[in-house]
Amino acid sequence: MDTSGLQGYSGTTKELLERENVRIGDEIEVISNGKRYRGILMARYELSDPNYITLKLHNGYNIGIRVTKGVRVFKISAGVKPAFVRPPKPQILSDLPSVIIVSTGGTIASRVEYRTGAVRPALNADDLLAIVPELAGIARIDTEILYNVWSENIQVQHWIGMAEAVDRLIRKNVDGVVLTHGTDTMGYTAAALSFALQKPPVPVVLVGAQRSSDRPSSDATTNLIAAVATAAKAPFGEVVVAMHKWHSDDVIALHRGTRVVKLHTSSRDAFHSVNSRPIAYYQHGELRVIADDLNPRGSNEYICKPKFDARAFLIKFFPSMKPDILNILADIGIKGFVIEGTGLGHVSSNWVPVIKELTEIGVFVGMTSQCKFGRVNMNVYDSGRDLLRAGVVPLDDMLAEVALVKLMWILGNFGDRAELEDIKELMLMNVAGEIRSRTLPNVGG
Ligand code: GLU
Repeated sequence: MDTSGLQGYSGTTKELLERENVRIGDEIEVISNGKRYRGILMARYELSDPNYITLKLHNGYNIGIRVTKGVRVFKISAGVKPAFVRPPKPQILSDLPSVIIVSTGGTIASRVEYRTGAVRPALNADDLLAIVPELAGIARIDTEILYNVWSENIQVQHWIGMAEAVDRLIRKNVDGVVLTHGTDTMGYTAAALSFALQKPPVPVVLVGAQRSSDRPSSDATTNLIAAVATAAKAPFGEVVVAMHKWHSDDVIALHRGTRVVKLHTSSRDAFHSVNSRPIAYYQHGELRVIADDLNPRGSNEYICKPKFDARAFLIKFFPSMKPDILNILADIGIKGFVIEGTGLGHVSSNWVPVIKELTEIGVFVGMTSQCKFGRVNMNVYDSGRDLLRAGVVPLDDMLAEVALVKLMWILGNFGDRAELEDIKELMLMNVAGEIRSRTLPNVGG
Protein backbone atom coordinates (compact mmCIF):
# COMPACT_ATOMS: atom_id res chain seq x y z
CA MET A 1 0.00 0.00 0.00
CA ASP A 2 1.25 3.50 -0.88
CA THR A 3 2.54 5.37 2.14
CA SER A 4 4.04 8.40 0.34
CA GLY A 5 0.83 10.41 0.60
CA LEU A 6 0.71 10.55 -3.20
CA GLN A 7 -1.31 7.42 -4.01
CA GLY A 8 -1.51 6.82 -7.74
CA TYR A 9 1.10 9.43 -8.76
CA SER A 10 4.40 8.45 -10.34
CA GLY A 11 7.32 9.65 -12.45
CA THR A 12 7.82 13.36 -13.10
CA THR A 13 4.32 14.24 -11.84
CA LYS A 14 5.12 12.71 -8.47
CA GLU A 15 8.49 14.47 -8.42
CA LEU A 16 6.81 17.82 -9.13
CA LEU A 17 4.35 17.30 -6.26
CA GLU A 18 7.10 16.13 -3.91
CA ARG A 19 9.22 19.19 -4.73
CA GLU A 20 6.37 21.39 -3.60
CA ASN A 21 5.85 19.20 -0.52
CA VAL A 22 2.28 18.51 -1.58
CA ARG A 23 0.25 15.54 -0.34
CA ILE A 24 -3.13 14.14 -1.29
CA GLY A 25 -5.81 16.16 0.46
CA ASP A 26 -3.80 19.43 0.37
CA GLU A 27 -5.30 22.51 -1.26
CA ILE A 28 -3.12 23.47 -4.20
CA GLU A 29 -3.01 25.80 -7.16
CA VAL A 30 -1.95 24.51 -10.56
CA ILE A 31 -0.98 26.90 -13.34
CA SER A 32 -1.18 25.42 -16.79
CA ASN A 33 -1.23 27.30 -20.13
CA GLY A 34 -1.82 30.58 -18.32
CA LYS A 35 -4.88 29.20 -16.48
CA ARG A 36 -5.07 28.82 -12.68
CA TYR A 37 -6.87 25.91 -11.06
CA ARG A 38 -7.45 25.71 -7.31
CA GLY A 39 -8.65 22.62 -5.50
CA ILE A 40 -7.88 19.57 -3.39
CA LEU A 41 -5.30 17.12 -4.72
CA MET A 42 -7.05 13.78 -5.29
CA ALA A 43 -5.66 10.23 -5.28
CA ARG A 44 -5.44 8.53 -8.68
CA TYR A 45 -5.64 4.95 -9.88
CA GLU A 46 -2.15 3.52 -10.08
CA LEU A 47 -2.65 2.47 -13.70
CA SER A 48 -4.04 5.74 -14.99
CA ASP A 49 -1.96 8.05 -17.22
CA PRO A 50 0.94 9.24 -15.00
CA ASN A 51 1.05 12.67 -16.66
CA TYR A 52 -2.06 14.07 -14.99
CA ILE A 53 -2.89 15.76 -11.70
CA THR A 54 -6.45 15.29 -10.44
CA LEU A 55 -8.03 18.18 -8.54
CA LYS A 56 -11.37 18.41 -6.80
CA LEU A 57 -12.45 21.98 -7.58
CA HIS A 58 -14.36 24.04 -5.05
CA ASN A 59 -17.56 23.47 -7.05
CA GLY A 60 -17.21 19.72 -6.30
CA TYR A 61 -16.16 18.64 -9.80
CA ASN A 62 -12.93 16.73 -10.40
CA ILE A 63 -10.64 17.74 -13.26
CA GLY A 64 -7.49 16.20 -14.68
CA ILE A 65 -4.72 18.63 -15.60
CA ARG A 66 -2.08 17.39 -18.00
CA VAL A 67 1.43 17.89 -16.65
CA THR A 68 3.54 19.46 -19.39
CA LYS A 69 6.83 21.27 -19.06
CA GLY A 70 5.48 24.68 -18.05
CA VAL A 71 3.02 23.43 -15.44
CA ARG A 72 3.56 24.87 -11.95
CA VAL A 73 2.15 23.75 -8.64
CA PHE A 74 1.78 25.75 -5.40
CA LYS A 75 0.63 24.51 -2.06
CA ILE A 76 -2.09 26.72 -0.58
CA SER A 77 -2.73 24.82 2.64
CA ALA A 78 -2.17 21.40 4.09
CA GLY A 79 -5.20 19.09 4.08
CA VAL A 80 -6.85 18.07 7.29
CA LYS A 81 -5.94 14.45 7.90
CA PRO A 82 -9.12 12.40 7.34
CA ALA A 83 -10.19 10.73 10.52
CA PHE A 84 -12.58 7.84 10.88
CA VAL A 85 -14.80 8.22 13.91
CA ARG A 86 -15.98 4.86 15.09
CA PRO A 87 -19.56 4.78 16.40
CA PRO A 88 -19.89 3.42 19.93
CA LYS A 89 -19.77 -0.37 20.19
CA PRO A 90 -23.20 -1.95 20.64
CA GLN A 91 -24.12 -3.68 23.88
CA ILE A 92 -23.03 -7.31 24.12
CA LEU A 93 -25.77 -9.85 25.00
CA SER A 94 -24.27 -12.58 27.13
CA ASP A 95 -26.53 -15.52 26.22
CA LEU A 96 -25.63 -15.52 22.52
CA PRO A 97 -23.06 -17.81 20.85
CA SER A 98 -19.51 -16.47 20.84
CA VAL A 99 -17.98 -15.57 17.47
CA ILE A 100 -14.54 -14.12 16.87
CA ILE A 101 -14.01 -11.93 13.81
CA VAL A 102 -10.39 -12.12 12.74
CA SER A 103 -9.43 -9.42 10.25
CA THR A 104 -6.74 -10.04 7.64
CA GLY A 105 -7.34 -7.07 5.28
CA GLY A 106 -8.91 -6.57 1.85
CA THR A 107 -11.73 -4.34 0.66
CA ILE A 108 -14.03 -5.42 3.47
CA ALA A 109 -11.57 -3.76 5.83
CA SER A 110 -11.04 -0.64 3.73
CA ARG A 111 -12.95 2.50 2.91
CA VAL A 112 -12.79 5.20 0.30
CA GLU A 113 -11.90 8.60 1.63
CA TYR A 114 -14.31 10.61 -0.49
CA ARG A 115 -12.62 13.99 -0.12
CA THR A 116 -9.51 12.68 -1.85
CA GLY A 117 -10.55 9.40 -3.47
CA ALA A 118 -7.88 7.32 -1.71
CA VAL A 119 -8.75 3.80 -0.60
CA ARG A 120 -7.47 3.24 2.91
CA PRO A 121 -7.17 -0.01 4.84
CA ALA A 122 -8.82 1.68 7.78
CA LEU A 123 -11.32 -0.69 9.28
CA ASN A 124 -10.32 -3.33 11.75
CA ALA A 125 -12.79 -5.90 12.98
CA ASP A 126 -13.75 -3.63 15.90
CA ASP A 127 -14.70 -0.88 13.47
CA LEU A 128 -16.75 -3.35 11.44
CA LEU A 129 -18.61 -4.39 14.56
CA ALA A 130 -19.38 -0.79 15.43
CA ILE A 131 -20.54 -0.04 11.88
CA VAL A 132 -22.74 -3.14 11.66
CA PRO A 133 -24.49 -3.10 15.05
CA GLU A 134 -26.88 -5.88 13.91
CA LEU A 135 -24.02 -8.29 14.58
CA ALA A 136 -24.44 -7.76 18.30
CA GLY A 137 -27.94 -9.26 18.06
CA ILE A 138 -26.58 -12.43 16.46
CA ALA A 139 -23.54 -13.31 18.53
CA ARG A 140 -21.23 -12.22 21.31
CA ILE A 141 -18.57 -10.79 19.05
CA ASP A 142 -14.94 -10.48 19.86
CA THR A 143 -12.41 -9.25 17.36
CA GLU A 144 -8.79 -9.78 16.54
CA ILE A 145 -6.50 -8.15 13.95
CA LEU A 146 -4.21 -10.76 12.48
CA TYR A 147 -3.07 -8.98 9.31
CA ASN A 148 -3.91 -5.92 7.29
CA VAL A 149 -2.93 -6.90 3.75
CA TRP A 150 -4.42 -6.94 0.28
CA SER A 151 -4.97 -10.59 -0.43
CA GLU A 152 -2.62 -10.64 -3.41
CA ASN A 153 0.13 -10.24 -0.81
CA ILE A 154 -0.91 -13.37 1.07
CA GLN A 155 1.86 -15.99 1.26
CA VAL A 156 1.84 -19.53 2.63
CA GLN A 157 3.09 -18.05 5.93
CA HIS A 158 -0.20 -16.15 6.20
CA TRP A 159 -2.16 -19.38 5.66
CA ILE A 160 -0.12 -20.99 8.42
CA GLY A 161 -0.75 -17.96 10.65
CA MET A 162 -4.48 -18.03 9.95
CA ALA A 163 -4.74 -21.79 10.54
CA GLU A 164 -2.87 -21.48 13.83
CA ALA A 165 -5.00 -18.53 14.92
CA VAL A 166 -8.25 -20.39 14.17
CA ASP A 167 -6.90 -23.51 15.89
CA ARG A 168 -6.14 -21.45 18.99
CA LEU A 169 -9.68 -20.04 18.97
CA ILE A 170 -11.23 -23.47 18.46
CA ARG A 171 -9.30 -24.69 21.50
CA LYS A 172 -10.73 -21.75 23.45
CA ASN A 173 -14.19 -23.17 22.68
CA VAL A 174 -15.58 -20.34 20.60
CA ASP A 175 -18.81 -21.16 18.75
CA GLY A 176 -17.56 -19.95 15.39
CA VAL A 177 -14.82 -18.02 13.65
CA VAL A 178 -15.14 -15.42 10.87
CA LEU A 179 -12.11 -14.27 8.88
CA THR A 180 -12.43 -11.07 6.87
CA HIS A 181 -10.25 -11.36 3.76
CA GLY A 182 -9.53 -9.68 0.42
CA THR A 183 -11.55 -11.37 -2.28
CA ASP A 184 -8.78 -11.81 -4.87
CA THR A 185 -7.18 -14.84 -3.25
CA MET A 186 -9.91 -15.78 -0.80
CA GLY A 187 -10.55 -19.01 -2.74
CA TYR A 188 -6.92 -20.09 -2.22
CA THR A 189 -7.07 -19.30 1.49
CA ALA A 190 -10.39 -21.13 1.81
CA ALA A 191 -8.78 -24.22 0.27
CA ALA A 192 -5.71 -23.85 2.46
CA LEU A 193 -7.78 -23.64 5.66
CA SER A 194 -9.96 -26.56 4.50
CA PHE A 195 -6.86 -28.77 4.38
CA ALA A 196 -5.22 -27.30 7.46
CA LEU A 197 -8.31 -27.49 9.69
CA GLN A 198 -10.06 -30.74 8.88
CA LYS A 199 -13.49 -31.46 10.33
CA PRO A 200 -13.41 -28.46 12.67
CA PRO A 201 -15.96 -28.60 15.52
CA VAL A 202 -17.29 -25.13 14.60
CA PRO A 203 -17.85 -23.21 11.36
CA VAL A 204 -14.89 -21.27 9.98
CA VAL A 205 -16.29 -18.61 7.64
CA LEU A 206 -14.25 -16.49 5.24
CA VAL A 207 -15.91 -13.29 4.11
CA GLY A 208 -14.97 -10.43 1.84
CA ALA A 209 -16.54 -7.58 -0.05
CA GLN A 210 -16.29 -6.49 -3.66
CA ARG A 211 -17.11 -2.87 -2.75
CA SER A 212 -15.76 -1.09 0.32
CA SER A 213 -18.06 -0.71 3.30
CA ASP A 214 -18.66 3.02 2.89
CA ARG A 215 -19.99 2.80 -0.68
CA PRO A 216 -23.76 2.68 -1.10
CA SER A 217 -23.40 -0.45 -3.26
CA SER A 218 -21.23 -2.21 -0.71
CA ASP A 219 -21.81 -5.89 -0.11
CA ALA A 220 -19.73 -5.78 3.08
CA THR A 221 -22.58 -5.51 5.59
CA THR A 222 -24.82 -8.24 4.21
CA ASN A 223 -21.91 -10.61 3.67
CA LEU A 224 -20.64 -9.98 7.18
CA ILE A 225 -24.05 -10.50 8.81
CA ALA A 226 -24.46 -13.81 6.97
CA ALA A 227 -20.92 -14.86 7.90
CA VAL A 228 -21.44 -14.12 11.60
CA ALA A 229 -24.86 -15.82 11.62
CA THR A 230 -23.34 -18.90 9.95
CA ALA A 231 -20.44 -18.96 12.41
CA ALA A 232 -22.86 -18.60 15.33
CA LYS A 233 -25.62 -20.99 14.34
CA ALA A 234 -24.73 -23.33 11.47
CA PRO A 235 -25.17 -27.00 12.32
CA PHE A 236 -21.91 -27.84 10.53
CA GLY A 237 -18.21 -27.54 11.22
CA GLU A 238 -16.83 -26.66 7.79
CA VAL A 239 -14.56 -24.06 6.22
CA VAL A 240 -16.82 -21.95 4.00
CA VAL A 241 -16.88 -18.68 2.05
CA ALA A 242 -19.85 -16.31 2.53
CA MET A 243 -20.55 -14.02 -0.45
CA HIS A 244 -23.54 -12.67 -2.40
CA LYS A 245 -25.38 -15.31 -4.43
CA TRP A 246 -26.49 -12.72 -6.99
CA HIS A 247 -26.66 -8.96 -7.40
CA SER A 248 -29.38 -8.25 -4.89
CA ASP A 249 -28.77 -8.29 -1.17
CA ASP A 250 -31.29 -10.95 -0.21
CA VAL A 251 -29.33 -14.20 -0.52
CA ILE A 252 -25.79 -14.97 0.60
CA ALA A 253 -24.29 -18.27 -0.57
CA LEU A 254 -22.07 -20.38 1.67
CA HIS A 255 -19.53 -22.12 -0.54
CA ARG A 256 -17.41 -25.10 0.44
CA GLY A 257 -13.84 -23.94 0.90
CA THR A 258 -12.42 -26.36 -1.67
CA ARG A 259 -14.96 -25.65 -4.38
CA VAL A 260 -15.14 -21.90 -4.58
CA VAL A 261 -13.68 -19.51 -7.15
CA LYS A 262 -13.84 -15.80 -7.88
CA LEU A 263 -15.24 -15.65 -11.41
CA HIS A 264 -15.86 -11.93 -11.82
CA THR A 265 -13.51 -9.01 -11.23
CA SER A 266 -16.02 -6.59 -9.73
CA SER A 267 -19.55 -7.95 -9.55
CA ARG A 268 -21.13 -8.62 -6.16
CA ASP A 269 -21.93 -12.19 -7.23
CA ALA A 270 -18.32 -12.91 -8.16
CA PHE A 271 -18.00 -16.13 -6.16
CA HIS A 272 -19.32 -19.45 -7.36
CA SER A 273 -19.03 -23.08 -6.43
CA VAL A 274 -17.62 -25.23 -9.22
CA ASN A 275 -18.52 -28.90 -9.74
CA SER A 276 -20.59 -28.61 -6.59
CA ARG A 277 -23.43 -26.49 -5.24
CA PRO A 278 -23.08 -24.03 -2.37
CA ILE A 279 -23.58 -25.94 0.85
CA ALA A 280 -26.07 -23.45 2.30
CA TYR A 281 -27.81 -20.12 1.73
CA TYR A 282 -28.45 -17.36 4.22
CA GLN A 283 -31.72 -15.57 3.46
CA HIS A 284 -34.00 -13.33 5.55
CA GLY A 285 -32.16 -14.20 8.73
CA GLU A 286 -32.38 -17.97 8.16
CA LEU A 287 -29.67 -20.43 7.20
CA ARG A 288 -30.91 -23.04 4.69
CA VAL A 289 -28.49 -25.99 4.52
CA ILE A 290 -28.48 -27.82 1.16
CA ALA A 291 -25.61 -30.30 1.36
CA ASP A 292 -26.04 -33.54 3.28
CA ASP A 293 -22.40 -34.60 3.53
CA LEU A 294 -21.29 -32.05 6.10
CA ASN A 295 -19.14 -32.44 9.17
CA PRO A 296 -21.54 -31.80 12.07
CA ARG A 297 -20.91 -29.00 14.55
CA GLY A 298 -19.26 -30.40 17.66
CA SER A 299 -17.74 -33.42 15.91
CA ASN A 300 -14.64 -34.74 17.64
CA GLU A 301 -12.70 -35.73 14.53
CA TYR A 302 -10.95 -32.38 14.26
CA ILE A 303 -7.35 -32.48 12.96
CA CYS A 304 -5.10 -29.44 12.59
CA LYS A 305 -2.23 -29.73 10.11
CA PRO A 306 -1.29 -26.12 9.46
CA LYS A 307 1.96 -26.38 7.48
CA PHE A 308 2.48 -25.44 3.82
CA ASP A 309 5.51 -25.60 1.56
CA ALA A 310 5.38 -23.20 -1.39
CA ARG A 311 7.64 -25.31 -3.61
CA ALA A 312 4.73 -26.41 -5.80
CA PHE A 313 3.87 -24.86 -9.15
CA LEU A 314 0.73 -24.34 -11.19
CA ILE A 315 1.27 -24.27 -14.95
CA LYS A 316 -1.36 -23.23 -17.44
CA PHE A 317 -0.58 -24.93 -20.73
CA PHE A 318 -1.11 -22.95 -23.94
CA PRO A 319 -0.54 -23.79 -27.61
CA SER A 320 3.17 -23.65 -28.48
CA MET A 321 4.29 -23.58 -24.82
CA LYS A 322 7.64 -25.35 -24.54
CA PRO A 323 8.15 -28.05 -21.91
CA ASP A 324 11.62 -26.71 -20.91
CA ILE A 325 9.93 -24.57 -18.27
CA LEU A 326 9.34 -27.75 -16.23
CA ASN A 327 13.06 -28.52 -16.11
CA ILE A 328 13.96 -24.94 -15.27
CA LEU A 329 11.50 -24.93 -12.39
CA ALA A 330 12.59 -28.35 -11.13
CA ASP A 331 16.19 -27.12 -11.19
CA ILE A 332 15.32 -24.24 -8.87
CA GLY A 333 13.74 -26.59 -6.37
CA ILE A 334 10.10 -27.02 -7.38
CA LYS A 335 8.98 -30.37 -5.97
CA GLY A 336 5.71 -30.86 -7.77
CA PHE A 337 3.57 -29.51 -10.58
CA VAL A 338 -0.12 -29.09 -11.16
CA ILE A 339 -0.80 -28.63 -14.85
CA GLU A 340 -3.91 -26.87 -16.08
CA GLY A 341 -4.19 -28.79 -19.31
CA THR A 342 -6.64 -28.46 -22.16
CA GLY A 343 -10.04 -30.15 -22.26
CA LEU A 344 -10.04 -33.57 -20.65
CA GLY A 345 -6.44 -33.10 -19.48
CA HIS A 346 -3.94 -32.73 -22.31
CA VAL A 347 -0.69 -30.98 -23.18
CA SER A 348 1.36 -31.05 -26.35
CA SER A 349 3.02 -34.40 -27.08
CA ASN A 350 6.52 -32.86 -26.86
CA TRP A 351 5.91 -32.55 -23.09
CA VAL A 352 5.69 -36.34 -22.61
CA PRO A 353 9.44 -37.17 -22.47
CA VAL A 354 10.16 -34.21 -20.16
CA ILE A 355 7.37 -35.20 -17.80
CA LYS A 356 8.55 -38.82 -17.84
CA GLU A 357 12.07 -37.78 -16.81
CA LEU A 358 10.69 -35.68 -13.96
CA THR A 359 8.33 -38.31 -12.55
CA GLU A 360 11.18 -40.86 -12.73
CA ILE A 361 13.25 -38.70 -10.38
CA GLY A 362 10.33 -38.34 -7.95
CA VAL A 363 8.74 -35.04 -9.03
CA PHE A 364 4.95 -35.03 -8.75
CA VAL A 365 3.00 -34.04 -11.89
CA GLY A 366 -0.78 -33.79 -11.61
CA MET A 367 -3.31 -32.88 -14.31
CA THR A 368 -6.32 -30.60 -13.99
CA SER A 369 -8.30 -28.83 -16.69
CA GLN A 370 -8.51 -25.23 -17.73
CA CYS A 371 -12.19 -25.92 -18.41
CA LYS A 372 -13.51 -24.92 -14.99
CA PHE A 373 -16.35 -27.45 -15.03
CA GLY A 374 -16.17 -31.21 -15.38
CA ARG A 375 -13.37 -33.66 -14.68
CA VAL A 376 -10.22 -34.75 -16.44
CA ASN A 377 -10.35 -38.06 -18.26
CA MET A 378 -7.04 -39.02 -19.78
CA ASN A 379 -8.16 -42.37 -21.13
CA VAL A 380 -10.22 -41.02 -24.00
CA TYR A 381 -7.45 -39.87 -26.38
CA ASP A 382 -4.00 -41.32 -27.05
CA SER A 383 -2.42 -37.99 -25.98
CA GLY A 384 -3.94 -38.48 -22.52
CA ARG A 385 -2.86 -42.10 -22.34
CA ASP A 386 0.73 -41.14 -23.25
CA LEU A 387 0.74 -38.68 -20.36
CA LEU A 388 -0.60 -41.33 -17.99
CA ARG A 389 2.21 -43.65 -19.05
CA ALA A 390 4.68 -40.81 -18.38
CA GLY A 391 3.47 -40.73 -14.78
CA VAL A 392 0.94 -37.87 -14.81
CA VAL A 393 -1.72 -38.18 -12.11
CA PRO A 394 -5.21 -37.17 -13.28
CA LEU A 395 -6.81 -35.09 -10.54
CA ASP A 396 -10.46 -35.82 -11.35
CA ASP A 397 -12.71 -32.83 -10.73
CA MET A 398 -10.36 -30.88 -8.46
CA LEU A 399 -9.99 -27.19 -9.27
CA ALA A 400 -6.47 -26.40 -10.47
CA GLU A 401 -5.78 -23.80 -7.76
CA VAL A 402 -7.17 -26.12 -5.08
CA ALA A 403 -4.87 -28.90 -6.34
CA LEU A 404 -1.94 -26.49 -6.08
CA VAL A 405 -2.83 -25.55 -2.50
CA LYS A 406 -3.30 -29.22 -1.63
CA LEU A 407 0.12 -30.07 -3.05
CA MET A 408 1.67 -27.25 -0.98
CA TRP A 409 -0.13 -28.62 2.07
CA ILE A 410 1.08 -32.19 1.42
CA LEU A 411 4.65 -30.97 0.88
CA GLY A 412 4.42 -28.88 4.04
CA ASN A 413 3.09 -31.59 6.31
CA PHE A 414 4.46 -34.81 4.83
CA GLY A 415 6.95 -33.56 2.22
CA ASP A 416 10.26 -34.52 3.77
CA ARG A 417 9.33 -38.09 4.44
CA ALA A 418 6.78 -38.63 1.65
CA GLU A 419 7.72 -40.65 -1.41
CA LEU A 420 6.16 -39.82 -4.78
CA GLU A 421 3.71 -42.71 -4.29
CA ASP A 422 2.55 -41.23 -0.95
CA ILE A 423 2.06 -37.80 -2.53
CA LYS A 424 0.02 -39.37 -5.34
CA GLU A 425 -2.11 -41.29 -2.87
CA LEU A 426 -2.76 -38.18 -0.77
CA MET A 427 -3.53 -36.04 -3.80
CA LEU A 428 -6.21 -38.50 -4.85
CA MET A 429 -7.64 -38.97 -1.35
CA ASN A 430 -10.63 -36.79 -0.55
CA VAL A 431 -9.55 -34.66 2.41
CA ALA A 432 -12.06 -31.80 2.44
CA GLY A 433 -14.59 -32.31 -0.35
CA GLU A 434 -12.11 -31.26 -3.03
CA ILE A 435 -12.26 -34.39 -5.19
CA ARG A 436 -15.10 -36.65 -6.18
CA SER A 437 -15.02 -39.65 -8.43
CA ARG A 438 -18.32 -38.65 -10.02
CA THR A 439 -19.37 -35.14 -10.98
CA LEU A 440 -22.75 -34.11 -12.27
CA PRO A 441 -22.36 -32.22 -15.55
CA ASN A 442 -22.16 -28.44 -15.16
CA VAL A 443 -22.95 -28.38 -11.50
CA GLY A 444 -22.20 -25.05 -9.95
CA GLY A 445 -23.87 -22.17 -8.26
N1 GLU B 1 -7.12 -6.84 -4.29
C1 GLU B 1 -7.57 -6.64 -2.95
C2 GLU B 1 -7.67 -7.93 -2.18
O1 GLU B 1 -7.99 -8.96 -2.68
C3 GLU B 1 -8.85 -5.90 -2.90
C4 GLU B 1 -10.00 -6.67 -3.49
C5 GLU B 1 -10.95 -7.14 -2.45
O2 GLU B 1 -10.74 -7.16 -1.26
O3 GLU B 1 -12.00 -7.52 -2.89
O4 GLU B 1 -7.39 -7.88 -1.01
